[in-house]
Amino acid sequence: MTTLSSDTRQLVDLAQARLVPTYRQRELILDHGQGATLWDIDGRDYIDFAAGIAVNALGYGDADVLAALQEQAGRIWHTSNIFYSEPPLRLADELIAASGFAQRVFFCNSGAEANEAAIKLARRWATRQARAPERRTILTFEGSFHGRTLATVTATAQPKYQAGFEPLPGGFRYAPYNDIVAFDAAFGDDVAAVLIEPVQGEGGVVPADPAFLHFVRRRCDEAGALLIFDEIQTGMGRTGRLWAHEHAGVKPDVMTLAKGLGAGFPIGAMLVAGDVAQVLDFGSHGTTFGGNPLAAAVARVALRKLSSSAIQDNVGARAKQLRDGLAALNTRLGGVFQGLRGHGLMLGAVLAGKWTPRIGEILDAAAANGVLVLQAGPEVLRFVPPLVIREDEMSEGLDRLERALVSLPSVPAA
Ligand SMILES: *Cc1c(COP(=O)(O)O)cnc(C)c1O
Repeated sequence: MTTLSSDTRQLVDLAQARLVPTYRQRELILDHGQGATLWDIDGRDYIDFAAGIAVNALGYGDADVLAALQEQAGRIWHTSNIFYSEPPLRLADELIAASGFAQRVFFCNSGAEANEAAIKLARRWATRQARAPERRTILTFEGSFHGRTLATVTATAQPKYQAGFEPLPGGFRYAPYNDIVAFDAAFGDDVAAVLIEPVQGEGGVVPADPAFLHFVRRRCDEAGALLIFDEIQTGMGRTGRLWAHEHAGVKPDVMTLAKGLGAGFPIGAMLVAGDVAQVLDFGSHGTTFGGNPLAAAVARVALRKLSSSAIQDNVGARAKQLRDGLAALNTRLGGVFQGLRGHGLMLGAVLAGKWTPRIGEILDAAAANGVLVLQAGPEVLRFVPPLVIREDEMSEGLDRLERALVSLPSVPAA
């Protein structure tokens, strides 16, 4: 491990003493960035395969984002939702046009809030249905991740995120992901909505089977339940399409966005089809900061750039380079990974059995060798770099990852 400078040591000590210890950060203090490269306060550089957890889709130092932020900052920062400002209205219109299904948008500040809005919308909508006003259940999937508020952590069907926070709100049920028969058995007349990630992110980068998504859509249509796609991580071009559900050709009734939407500025959104949105009528829901003009001004630039063919072509080319590079590294090192999965620049490398217990060491060694990588689930290295990452940054990052793996004490034969 590199020794820390006294400034870094002091700040890390401060963090460890003063912050609620909900995270375990690497011991480095990031300072600035350009493209997909970051620098810490000691001047060390890192290739960024993490992008602030799939958030900084335009990387660092994007001139258009900066110009939009500065221009808006000189006008007005906040109006509340009691009064209009222009950026969120333009953004709503542009998101609806890009969505291919939605008619209305609700803005908020984070992914969890967007899912919370979707859950409330589904319950309220079900209440108004003449056929079955008693429908309350939100059906979600094992291995999912939908946020950390009490309702969204309950939607998140992973016990490790829920333990100790009981009693959890009622009205949630779980089914196995990608299992048509089990989903069908779990579905029932009490289901108001199905909430699903088109590619599970935190759960280990697991893409939905297109046939599975088609089945879920059909079942929701037959029963008159809403289909909610959580595209908080997968949306905004991350998977090589603007929306991940385009890979399967299945449209939702409701879609939630956050992460890449603001390219690093906090913003969330819920997009709603048809007249479903009407049930959240005057006074039924709200949030003070939602649709903040600074956030919306930045998100407008993010949407325009991330839906361009230039970015989408780069995602395709860099995704191939990343897959090929990881496969070659895997061959040279004799089987670090047992498989690669995902779409576009949302890629998971599943560690081989003997490497799985060492995932923490791998992430530490990667950072020490100048490349930032994330974990997803207990055994998956997750690659979600900025979508603007250049070819030379990608190959440098792969070289650094290989150096990191080689630097680890050798692994005993399985
Ligand atoms: C990150 C994430 C969330 C939660 O978003 P926050 O902004 O952290 O509240 C919800 N769903 C998915 C799929 C995510 O990746």
